[in-house]
Amino acid sequence: MPREASPRARASALRTAAGDPIDPREVSAHLEALGAEEAIAWALATFRPRLRFACSFQKTTSVTIDIVHRLTGGDVGAGFFYLDTDLLFEETYATRDALAARYGVEFERFAPIPLAEQEQLYGDSLWARQPDACCGIRKVEPMRAALRGTDCWVSGIRREDSRTRAGAAKFGWDKRFGLWKLNPLADWTEAEVWDYVNERGVPYNPLHDAGYPSIGCAPCTRPPGAADDARSGRWADAHKTECGLHG
Ligand code: SF4
Repeated sequence: MPREASPRARASALRTAAGDPIDPREVSAHLEALGAEEAIAWALATFRPRLRFACSFQKTTSVTIDIVHRLTGGDVGAGFFYLDTDLLFEETYATRDALAARYGVEFERFAPIPLAEQEQLYGDSLWARQPDACCGIRKVEPMRAALRGTDCWVSGIRREDSRTRAGAAKFGWDKRFGLWKLNPLADWTEAEVWDYVNERGVPYNPLHDAGYPSIGCAPCTRPPGAADDARSGRWADAHKTECGLHG
């Protein structure tokens, strides 16, 4: 079997589907000026089949899938995955099923060691004592598996989500996982997301209507205070703002 090129080699070997070299800085600057639909269309043409969409089943997942569905004439294809920590809300699993039914998407599941094994190794409720370790086991490791053999992944992060995401580029090299990353909704406002969802009648996670602007694992997610940013309800009792998937 041929060996996979190193991340460094792949970083300097960005090419179009036709094989023409692409200057990443030029692409990044170009994509900043494009809308989400154009950016996703570019990624589909450039990277598929080595392109993957990370699905959190929050409202941005709903928007992204609807855009892909329109761009592909209803044949969304493969590459959609989610990290099943076994600690997601029931509403999140229901949203997964609603999106699968509406768009014909097959979501590939990546999961960590069973919870019982984690308890045996590290004790009960690791998320309450060492959330970084818990995220490392239940999110970061499965993410590495999900991105293996992939040249670019698509996330739903937005600059408005939190201060730590305010400088997120639409496209760039993801050093943590060693591949390209596209954030097509980076410059979307909360209002723009909801306008899209409502105008298109897109299925979305009902927890958003129950006061959860940001939704992760059930033990680590609660509604934020009125004056706080959207992600402040995540790990609200810990000095932690990210799960380790976004640098
Ligand atoms: S969000 Fe909480 S429960 Fe989920 S993996 Fe991270 S620490 Fe564990």
